[in-house]
Amino acid sequence: MKYMCRTCKKKCDDIIEHLMTVHKFSKTTIESQLKANPNSFNHAFEKLE
Ligand SMILES: [Zn+2]
Repeated sequence: MKYMCRTCKKKCDDIIEHLMTVHKFSKTTIESQLKANPNSFNHAFEKLE
């Protein structure tokens, strides 16, 4: 599964990896957001076939 980030228009195949490397999110931040809402980042990424 590939995703395109709506923020920077780059493709990636791992949303968490992308958020950490490109957008400098910390893993702790991402994990706590996902725990609160597993769909937290879905709106920010477009699924590509
Ligand atoms: Zn991005």
